[in-house]
Parts: sequence; structure tokens; C-alpha cells
Amino acid sequence: MTMADFDPDSVEIPCGHFIGGKLVREDGPTISVRRPSDNRIYAELPIGDAAVVDHAVQNAGKAQETSGWATQPPRERARAMKRWADLIDAEVESLGRLEALGSTRPIMQAIAVDVASTAEGLRFFAEYADKLGGEVAATRSDNLGLVVSEPYGVVGAITPWNFPLSMASWKAGPALAAGNAIVIKPSEMTPFSTVRFAQLAIEAGIPAGIVNVVQGTGAVTGDALVRHPLIGKISFTGSTRTGAAIMAASAASGVKPVTLELGGKSPQLVFADAQSLAKTAERAAASILGNAGQVCVAGSRLIVQRQARDEMIERLLDLFAAPRPGPTWSSATTFSPIISTPQADRIDDIVRRSMASGASALTGGRRLSAIQDGAFYEPTILSDVSVETPAVREEIFGPVLTVQSFEDEEEGLALADHPDYGLAAGVHTADINKALRAVRRLKAGTVWVNRYGRTLDFILPTGGYKRSGVGKDLGRQAVEANLRHKSVLIDFAA
Ligand code: NAD
Repeated sequence: MTMADFDPDSVEIPCGHFIGGKLVREDGPTISVRRPSDNRIYAELPIGDAAVVDHAVQNAGKAQETSGWATQPPRERARAMKRWADLIDAEVESLGRLEALGSTRPIMQAIAVDVASTAEGLRFFAEYADKLGGEVAATRSDNLGLVVSEPYGVVGAITPWNFPLSMASWKAGPALAAGNAIVIKPSEMTPFSTVRFAQLAIEAGIPAGIVNVVQGTGAVTGDALVRHPLIGKISFTGSTRTGAAIMAASAASGVKPVTLELGGKSPQLVFADAQSLAKTAERAAASILGNAGQVCVAGSRLIVQRQARDEMIERLLDLFAAPRPGPTWSSATTFSPIISTPQADRIDDIVRRSMASGASALTGGRRLSAIQDGAFYEPTILSDVSVETPAVREEIFGPVLTVQSFEDEEEGLALADHPDYGLAAGVHTADINKALRAVRRLKAGTVWVNRYGRTLDFILPTGGYKRSGVGKDLGRQAVEANLRHKSVLIDFAA
């Protein structure tokens, strides 16, 4: 037992909605929330109906208009957001415990990665607050044409369960820097760290009502948020299917703009001339075993040149044997549980269907025997697959890597292209020309060359091609997506 280990029953749960700076809990229907590590129910979450959502959005609208958040000198906004980031850093351990308890993030990673990058992401966006400008347009010389950017007012955000805190900061950071208020609906499976995140905003001096959280299911609470008439824009991260439903609901309820960060099935293209196959194998393993593959940009399809295939597989088999599964509250755990039993069954179903269609498991391919009743899945490598194999075609969101091989560049690039998804891709080669040709050809919103996975370079926007999404999170683009533009023409002719 180290300092970071914790007793899951000792964590204080901020259970409720967070509206107007207060934790709100009303009588009404609830949903049981389970800890993924041991499948135990640890809280009853209220399901916010249309009235709760209306209360939150009206409150946010009033705060945005009257609190001075949008009208104060923008450096003040930046300062408040940086204080917020500092409070998150100061609570890194308790916030890490809350995140680890309810999600699939082992405590060591929750502390070092999730909470730390949540704070750093807010700082990145805070720095935009006083660097936003408009344009002076070319007009006749006795006129002045301006393009002025303005916040929407209230932005709605809907987040998934896989990285609750960082997803909340990716949404709140740009929305607030641009002067909006936000109402966040976290996933009903991981709802509580977002409440503490919002409480800390108010403690940092951000006016009550600027950061709000409504709890509940997607069908009830999420849908009511999307359809609320005062919501100016919707920012969503989750599955492609839900993204499509949100786009339709948003169109039907006021043609609100949407940013959609959706699913992926990202390839890792490994050429035989990769600088180091040892390092490439480590990156490939980390990209699919991190968070047990429950990562939108997981490098789930290994596409390796024939001459390098055997060595890559041999190295991967060693690396796939190394992760230590366990409860998220143990500092020894390096391999995450699956978020829920139905999701573990879903992973297993895709693996079974793939094997029935001819795939073979080089390792794994089964549920891991239960650890404290949690749902775990074995690190799995499937070979003998084709573009038709379910595991190659469908987003699994589990620790399952498929291996395909190719002879030449053209074949490798053709295999890398997925008919539906285009979120991210990796290319590994020491040949700069080959790498650049691949960068041009790959249809993905992010291409990593000789590395895989995000850094703290929040300046790089993230988002998908094809059905992996619309618009961007992170980067300048995320801030711009939280602003609308007004054209002003001033006539000063004598
Ligand atoms: P999900 O689509 O099931 O749910 C996401 C959120 O949407 C939840 O808060 C849910 O309650 C809500 N929701 C569900 N139905 C809704 C509806 N009809 N109206 C409004 N809200 C609704 O996704 P998930 O299972 O929580 O997350 C996993 C998915 O998220 C994967 O597909 C993954 O690739 C994707 N993801 C993408 C990114 C990215 O940056 N592209 C990042 C993380 C996760």
C-alpha cells in the first residue's frame, strides 16, 4: 500500500446537479451508479428532467448576461480561469480519487495525467481570453467594416465516460474564455468528478451560474439540454450514433451549431524501415492498452509491412503480458477495468464474431476472470483478419488490437483507410518522404509520425474526418467554435 492507494468507501461523493453555484438534489427518478472496479453501486444519481435542465440553462443565461463574466476586461476572465486551474492542482489527490473511484482510470494515472492535464488545459484556454479579436474588412474608404466576435451566451456540453475531467475541461475552457456560460451533462456512468470541477470554478471566483452541471441519462437529460431554446451551441463527445442523434435534435430545435467528437478505428502503419521496432511496438501497445483501449484515438488497427510482422508480433506479445489489472484505487494497477459489464460483453461479442469469421487470437480473446466483481478484458491480439472482420470494422473500445500486413506503400495506405472513421492515424518510418506521402494521403483529423498519442500541446486541434466528427476540440479552432461573428458596417461619409 502506497500513499496513493485509497479506500473506495471513504470518498465523499458530490451527488446532485450543480446549478447557480449550488449542489441541487430534488426528489424524483434516479439511476444507480456502479464502480467499474468492483461493479458495486455507490450512489443514486438524480435524472434531471426538462424542468431541471430549464432551471440550469435559465440560470446560466442570467449569469452570463448580468454577472460581468463576458463584459469584464478579458484579462480578468483569464485570471479567474487560471485560479480555477490552480485550485484543481491543489486538489489533485482528492480529485484524482473521485475520478479513479467512478471511472476506469487507475489512481496513479488519474493523478499524474487526468487531473494534471485538466488544469493545464484550462490554463491554455485562459490565455486566449484577451487574445481574441475580430477583423477590419475591406470596404469603401468612407465606411468602416468590422467583423466582431461575440459569445453565444449559454453553451451546452455533453461528455462521455472515458476521461470525465479532461473532457469537461476541453469543453469548459474554450466556452468560458470566449465569455460563455456552460451547462455540462456528464455521462451517467461517471457523473461526479465534473461536479467537483464545477464547484472549484466558483471557489476560484468565477461567478455562480457560469459553470453548471445537470445529471441524468442521455435520452432524458441530454436530449432536453440539446433542445433547450436558450442553448446557443452544443459541444458533444461520444459515439457516432449519439452524435448523429444530437445533430438531428439540434437541427429540429433551432438549427444550433454542433461540435461533435465521435468514434474512431485508428490505424498504426508500421513500415519495415521504422527507426526502432522495439520503440514502435511499445507505442503500439500503449496506444491500445492505455485505459484498456477505452480511448477514442486508440491505435486499434496495426498495419505492418510483411518483413517487420514477425518481430512486431513477438515484441507485442511480451508487452501484452505486462499490464497489471486491478481496482482503480490501487497504485499497483496499470491495466483498467472495462466501464461496465454490458460493455465487456459487447467487446467479447465483437471478438467472438471476428473469430467465427476466421480471425485467430494470438493472445487474449476472453473476459479476464473477475477481480472483485469488476469487468476486465484480456489484452488481445487478433490476426487472420480482413477489412470485413467485425474487429477491424467496428469500434470496440476495448484492449483489442487487430494485425494486418502489407507488401508495399500503396497497399498499406489502402488498408489504413477506414470506410467510416477518420479520427487519428500513426505512421512509423525512418524515411521522411514516405512519412510525408502518408501524411498527405491518410484521411484522419490527426496524424502522428514516429509517435502515437496526445501531448500537452493543446494548440493542436483534435477532431475527426468522416464519421469521426464535425469541428474541433482544443486549439484556436475550439475557441472560435464558441464564438459567433457579427458584421458591422459604419458609414462616415461627410
Ligand atoms: P455515448 O455516445 O453513449 O454517450 C456520450 C454522452 O452522450 C453521455 O453523456 C450520454 O448520456 C449522452 N447521450 C446519449 N444519448 C443521448 C441523446 N440522445 N441526446 C443527448 N445526449 C445523449 O458515448 P460513451 O459510450 O459515453 O463514450 C464512448 C464513445 O465516445 C466512443 O465512441 C468514443 O470513441 C467516443 N469518444 C470520442 C472522443 C473524441 O475526442 N473524438 C473522445 C472520447 C470518447
